[in-house]
Parts: sequence; C-alpha cells; structure tokens
Amino acid sequence: MSNQAQIDSMTDTMSAFVALVGKKLPDDVEAKLAELRAKETSRLATTIYDTMAENQALAMKLNRPCCQDTGVLQFWIKCGTQFPLMAQLEQILTDAVLRATVNAPLRHNSVETFDEYNTGKNIGKGTPTLFWDIVPDSDQCEIYTYMAGGGCTLPGKAMVLMPGAGYEGVTQFVLDVMTSYGLNACPPLLVGVGVATSVETAALLSKKALMRPIGSHNSNERAAKMEQLLEDGINSIGLGPQGMSGAFSVMGVNIENTARHPSTIGVAVNVGCWSHRRGHIIFDKDMNYTITTHAEVQL
Ligand code: SF4
Repeated sequence: MSNQAQIDSMTDTMSAFVALVGKKLPDDVEAKLAELRAKETSRLATTIYDTMAENQALAMKLNRPCCQDTGVLQFWIKCGTQFPLMAQLEQILTDAVLRATVNAPLRHNSVETFDEYNTGKNIGKGTPTLFWDIVPDSDQCEIYTYMAGGGCTLPGKAMVLMPGAGYEGVTQFVLDVMTSYGLNACPPLLVGVGVATSVETAALLSKKALMRPIGSHNSNERAAKMEQLLEDGINSIGLGPQGMSGAFSVMGVNIENTARHPSTIGVAVNVGCWSHRRGHIIFDKDMNYTITTHAEVQL
C-alpha cells in the first residue's frame, strides 16, 4: 500500500471509529450499567437504568449519537517509533474528526477561546486534543478515543496539597469534589484520580485513569485499596442514576500515579459520566486494526 493509501485507510477507519464511539458505549460500561441496575431496588433507579438501556438500543437502531453532547474529541496515543504514519497522525485524526462531525453527526463543540466563535467543525486551536506516549521498537499505534462532554468535564479539579496533608488530604479532596461538583455529570460516574507531584502531572493522570477498563485496578496494592475505599465512600453519598438517588454513585474509581517530590502531593479528579464514550483501537504497520473495547462491531 502506498503512503497515501495508508493515510486514506487510517482516516476512513478513524472517522468510522469516532462515529461508533459516539453511538455505542464500550462493553465494560454496558456491563457495569447492567450490573448496577440489577443491584438497585428502588423503582425510580431501575426505571432510569432501563431508560439508559433503551437509549443505547435506539442509538444503534437509528444510527445516531447516544447523547446529544458528543464532547470535545481527545485522543490518547501510544505510538511505536516505527509506526509508518507517526508524522501524519495529527492530520489524520483531525481529518477523521471533521468527517465524523458531518457523517455521525457530532455536535459542534469547538469554540475558539477569546475569539468566541464556534468553528462548526469540532476542529480548533488544540482540538481535537492529542496526548502522546512514544513506544520504542514498536510498529503499532494504539489510540484511545474519548468524547469529553461538557457535563462530565465540569467536576474536573487539580491542586497541590500542603505538606503533611498526606493520603487523608487526597481522600478529602476527592470527596469534596464529588459532593460539590459530582452531580454536574450524569451518574453513575467513573472517577479518575491522579496522584503525582504537581497540578499538570496529576491532571493528566486523572484523565488517563478514565481510559482504564472498569473493574481494573492500580498495580500497587495500596493504591488499589484506596480505589476501593473511595468507591465505597462515594457510593455512600447515594447519588444513584442521574443523581436521582440510589445505592450506587459510581461505576468505579481508577487511580493513576507517579513518584513525587517528598514535600508535595499533586492530586486531580476527572469524571466520566454514565455515557462514558471511550474506545480503544490498535493499528498495525499495514493499517489493519483491532478494536478492544467494542466486541462484534463492524465499522
Ligand atoms: S454528562 Fe454525559 S450523559 Fe450527561 S449530558 Fe453530558 S455527555 Fe451526556
């Protein structure tokens, strides 16, 4: 395949994949919503979960996005240094978003800051947003596609805790965010927590944590224990589906961390809503692809 044919092939695939992500929730989210529905006992909560399931079925049947807010497109890329289209990837993903905006269709969600106009294309300065991890000695490219809606973006917060605040400070920060701003997103929520050294490292990790599958755990057993404790704590708030009360507020809590300066703990929270639209696709060097988040789908 020529270089241009590879570019065309990947652009076609990513355009269709973005449209799919806007329409169909990943398998782990669908399974978790079904699990929480089965555990809820109140009529109101189970009715809301049933409505969510019907919404999903209708989005597929009618071939349209499952939520009106299709968000700002964000791509988390793990690109091998030998992947043939590394240099063209930004243009490919930008073109794919533009095409999906027309074909899916996607809501126009890119407003040029300070100039205050909507580009009408979901393309603007820094949008779609690309976050890069470079992988040596690999010819593959993995792409997590995420739709950052307005409501689920609103609870986002990061700060550096004062020396001595410790893990109690992390816990208080997360619970303060969830009890004050959590309802701006539509529960049940997936909560991403970044624990690192500064605001930007913690903030990036808190969003990256939302790319991890529901039910997965931090490889550090203390961090994994904190994930469970936070999940139990936030569930006890009793937000329930759509914040209308229920036994469960969250689909899970994912913590990602780095080492840190001995006197600081940077902490951040990012939230995914029940309509947690993320997809994971892997390209090989010939532009063959594998989708890991959505079984049995055709692009
Ligand atoms: S929070 Fe999520 S489900 Fe609610 S309106 Fe925003 S994108 Fe849609």
